Amino acid sequence: MNPRDKRAGGERRSLGPTRPGGAVWYILGLLFLLALAQAWFMAPAGRQVSYSEFKQAVRSGQVAEVFVGDQTIRGTYKRETNGGRSFNTTRIEDPKLIEDLDAASVKYTGEMVSRWLPEVLGWVVPLLLLFGVWSFFFRRMSGAEGGVMSFARSKHRVFSEDDVKVSFADVAGVDEAEQELKEIVEFLQNPKKYTTLGGRIPKGVLLVGPPGTGKTLLARAVAGEAKVPFFSLSGSEFVEMFVGVGAARVRDLFNQAEAKAPCIIFIDELDALGRARVQSPMGSHEEREQTLNQLLAEMDGFDSRKAIIIMGATNRPEVLDPALLRPGRFDRQVLVDKPDVNGREEVLRIHTKNVKLAPTVNLRVVAARTAGFAGADLANLVNEAALLAARKDKTAVEPTDFDEAIDRLIAGLEKKRVMSRKEREIVAYHESGHAIVATAIPGMDPVHKISIVQRGFGALGYTMQLPLEDRYLMQRKDLLNQLAVLLGGRTAEEIALGEISTGAQNDLQRATDIARAMVTEWGMSDALGAINYDGHKRSRFLDIPIGPERGAYAEDTGRLIDSEVKRIMTDAHNEARDILTRRRDILESVTRRLLEIEVMEGAELRNMMGIAPPPPTSETIPLPTNELR
Ligand code: ADP
Ligand code: MG
Ligand code: ZN
Repeated sequence: MNPRDKRAGGERRSLGPTRPGGAVWYILGLLFLLALAQAWFMAPAGRQVSYSEFKQAVRSGQVAEVFVGDQTIRGTYKRETNGGRSFNTTRIEDPKLIEDLDAASVKYTGEMVSRWLPEVLGWVVPLLLLFGVWSFFFRRMSGAEGGVMSFARSKHRVFSEDDVKVSFADVAGVDEAEQELKEIVEFLQNPKKYTTLGGRIPKGVLLVGPPGTGKTLLARAVAGEAKVPFFSLSGSEFVEMFVGVGAARVRDLFNQAEAKAPCIIFIDELDALGRARVQSPMGSHEEREQTLNQLLAEMDGFDSRKAIIIMGATNRPEVLDPALLRPGRFDRQVLVDKPDVNGREEVLRIHTKNVKLAPTVNLRVVAARTAGFAGADLANLVNEAALLAARKDKTAVEPTDFDEAIDRLIAGLEKKRVMSRKEREIVAYHESGHAIVATAIPGMDPVHKISIVQRGFGALGYTMQLPLEDRYLMQRKDLLNQLAVLLGGRTAEEIALGEISTGAQNDLQRATDIARAMVTEWGMSDALGAINYDGHKRSRFLDIPIGPERGAYAEDTGRLIDSEVKRIMTDAHNEARDILTRRRDILESVTRRLLEIEVMEGAELRNMMGIAPPPPTSETIPLPTNELR
C-alpha cells in the first residue's frame, strides 16, 4: 500500500467528531480541568497566619478544629472568640503540636480531602487520556464501520438467489462476451454434467474492458441467470491499513463462498489488488502483496469440483500480476468492449424501456451519433435527455433532447478521447487500406473483421486477419506482402486525403522492424547476402522489438543496411500504392460503408471486392493485427 492511499483512507475515516484537531482540544481541555481541580484542593483557604500565631491561638483556646495536612494546617477559630473564621498556616516540624492540641481540646484530623482527589486524578486522568488516544487511533486504523473486533470480516455484500435480478436481457452490445459467459452459467447450473467425465470446471474468468462497458453488470447477470449466490467485493476494499487484514478477508470470503457453492465470487477492480508485485525502492507494498498471495493460494486451494466460479473485472489488464493469469486462476479472459452501432441501439433500447419517448425518436439515429460511447455513457445519455425534457415540461422525450444531451456528453467525453467526425474518417480510410491490400494480395490470411469502433486500449480501429494455419516459417514473399499490408493504412490516407496522420506510427515501427530483420538477421537482402549482422538472436515472434544494441559491422555495412531497409520499405509502399490506386473506388465504398456500420465482416469486404471466400479456417482465436494507435 502506498503512502498516498494511507492518507486518503485516513481522511475518509476521520470525518466527524474524532477529527485529529478535535482530539487535541479535548486533551487540552482535560488538562486544564485537572489543573483547576489541583488548584482548588491544594489552595489554602482562609487567612494565612504564621505558625507562632497559630500556636498562640491554640494555647489561648481560640481554635475549634484543625486539619493537619502534609505541608499545611488548616483550621477554624471558635465562633465565640473569632466568629468561626478559617485560617491556614504552613506546617513546621513540631512534635509537641498534638500535645498542645489535646491540651486545648481542639478537634483535629489528619487532612485527607486535600490529598486523595488530586492524587487519584493525578494517575487516573492520564490513564484515561492514554486509553482515549489509543482507542481513537485504533478505531481509525481498523475502520470506523468495522468496529474493533470485526475488522477481519470481509465487507462483501451477499446476494442470495433472488437478490440478483439481472439477466443477460439487461446487457446488450457485448454479444461475444455474453456467448462465452453462457457457458459459465451452464457450468454453474449443472456442475455434475461436466465433472462426471472428469473435466474441470473453469475457476477464474476475467472480464477485461474499458470502463462502463458493463463488466460488473455482466458478472451479476451470470449470477442472475444461473440463480446462484453472488459474492462481490471490490479490489480496493481489500486494501487496508493493517497488515494481514486483507489476507484474512480473502480467507473469510472463500470460506463463506465454499459453504454456499455453487456460487460466484466477483472481485471488481481486480487491478487495485492484483497489481504486479514489484521490488520497490520505497519498501514493499506488503499488505497488498500478502492479500494477493492469499488470493492466489485460495484460488489454487479450493476444490475445483465445488463449482465456485471466481470472476474478476479490470480495465487495466496490463498491470495485473502475471501469476493471476496462469492456468487454474483467471485463465479465461473475456473481452468486454465498447458496442458498435447495432449494440448501441440495443443498449439504448434497454435503457429507454421505462422512458416516455416521442414517436419521432429514432434510436438508430441516436446510436449512429454516439460512436465511442460505452454502455454506461449511453445509460447516462438517456437519463440526461429525460431530464432535459422534464426541465422543459415536455410530456415525452424528443429527438432534440437527445441531440442536446449528446452534445453535452460529447463535450464531457472529449477528455476521454471520443473521435471527431474527421478522425473517424481518417481511421476508416486507414483500416480500409489495410484490409483491401490484405485481401487483394493472393495467399494472405483472410481478413476476419475491420473495425473503427474506438477500442479501450489505445487502438482507434483495427483490421483482424485470421490465419489459415499456424505458421512457423515465413518466406521472403510473405514478409514483403505483410509489409505492404502494414503500409496499406498509411497509403490509403495518402491517396484519399492527400495527407498522412500520426495514426500509422505503430504500423511503421512494425514494418521497419520486419524490414531490418530481413536484412540483418534473415539474410534476405541480395546486396548483403546471407549473413547475420545483428549480434543477438531474436524471439520467433515478430512483435518483440529489437533492442537498441547493434551487432558489430563496419560503417559501410551499416550504410548499406540502411539503404537496403529503405529499398524494401519503398518497394512495399509502392506495391500498396499500386493496389489501392487501382481500387480507388473500392477504397471509397468500403470506407463509406465502414463509417456507416463501424464493424465490417471479412465476407462483406470480399463481396465488395468480388473475391471468392477463403477456405474454411481452423478454429483459432483471432488476434487483432495492424492496430492503429
Ligand atoms: P463496468 O463495470 O464495465 O465499468 P458497469 O457494469 O458498472 O460497467 O456499467 C454501469 C452501468 O452502465 C450499468 O449498470 C448499466 O446500466 C450500464 N451499462 C453498461 N454497459 C451496458 C451494456 N452493455 N448493456 C446495458 N447497459 C449497460
Ligand atoms: Mg465496474
Ligand atoms: Zn494501421
